[in-house]
Amino acid sequence: MSPHAELVSRLRAAWLSGKTRPMEYRLAQLEALGRFLDEKKQDILEATAADMLEVSELSICRSELNHTLNNLGAWMKDKHVEKNWATQLDSAFIRKDPYGVVLIIGPWNYPINLLLVPLIGAIAAGNCVVMKPSEITRNVERLVAETLPRYLDEDCFAVVTAGVEETTRLLENKFDYIFFTGSPSVGRIVMTAAAKHLTPVTLELGGKNPCYVSDSCNVQNVARRVAWGRFFNAGQTCVAPDYVLCSVEMQEKLLPALREAITEFYGPNPRESPDFGRIVGDRQFQRVQALLHSGHTAIGGQTDAGERYIAPTVLVEVQQDDPVMQEEIFGPILPILTVTSVDDAIAFINARERPLVLYVFSSRKEVRSWAGSSIPLSVGRILLWPSG
Ligand code: NAD
Repeated sequence: MSPHAELVSRLRAAWLSGKTRPMEYRLAQLEALGRFLDEKKQDILEATAADMLEVSELSICRSELNHTLNNLGAWMKDKHVEKNWATQLDSAFIRKDPYGVVLIIGPWNYPINLLLVPLIGAIAAGNCVVMKPSEITRNVERLVAETLPRYLDEDCFAVVTAGVEETTRLLENKFDYIFFTGSPSVGRIVMTAAAKHLTPVTLELGGKNPCYVSDSCNVQNVARRVAWGRFFNAGQTCVAPDYVLCSVEMQEKLLPALREAITEFYGPNPRESPDFGRIVGDRQFQRVQALLHSGHTAIGGQTDAGERYIAPTVLVEVQQDDPVMQEEIFGPILPILTVTSVDDAIAFINARERPLVLYVFSSRKEVRSWAGSSIPLSVGRILLWPSG
């Protein structure tokens, strides 16, 4: 028997009792979660060990919570729909029903936000929840496991700490919904386990997010935006721009502008900057460092294994079959590849796995809308078209 079978059946019994359904219950649990965020703010900041994560971790949870508290009443209302011939004699409406006992599996890169934001949705929808934080961010895992259950109804909400082996066992249980955030390879494992019980899943995965920079744009603006997105949290963000596609002429203009933006954000030596992060673990450091051997280093390239430091790096003369183009980089490396036109860029992107996000920089609206409508995205469905 799976070691968590008893926990899952305890939560299922609580769910079947109907206690999570009333709006007052959901509001009380959401408010308790808000108290956790307020009262444990300092502990959360210490566990995430970086003040710069305050925006990504706490503020995003707070804003999701406020948005949910303000809208829950409207969301819970039945929605009336028009009748057709087959439903003439019925009363027809859409009712938003909870799934039941849901499992949320979180990654390490934004360990609070990517666990609690799905939790807010799951509570609001009237579910019972098992949360499985990432074992890589140990401090956050411990904080969440030890503290969060004290704020929530323990009949309905539980935290399981588990590495790969125990998570595999956890997934043997039947859940009514699984919300997974992580890598595509683990996403496949989760979906396979879910298929055994025909459990619906949401997979929030990573991918290589292309950034097309056309010849008509404000180069300084583009460089600042790309550098911010790529090097924030040392590149360990799922929606970060992964690589740049542009003409040879644009590459010549972009390189000095990127160098200037990096110096402006992180000073002449990013290693000494309090605003520049480190790679999360030694295994991840080795993986990202190996990607530096693609093409030619135009900016950065310095590393320090002891500190797991990799400088903000820009690579040029990168080929399609170089290691850096085979997987999501998830580190502070930005390869630039040259293309001859927007159509060339579209063909390049569509020949690969669907990206999570597409960035198109052009002052011409036709270019933005042509690229945007020609490139399908994966489940993330986030599309940003910054101009400038
Ligand atoms: P990961 O896939 O290695 O791990 C995610 C979770 O799965 C962790 O809780 C881990 O314990 C668990 N896990 C790992 N191996 C498992 C296995 N064999 N069986 C069952 N569970 C297993 O991902 P990560 O390294 O924590 O996070 C980085 C990845 O997440 C990147 O690919 C990134 O792009 C992606 N991501 C996506 C989003 C999004 O919203 N789409 C957000 C953040 C991160």
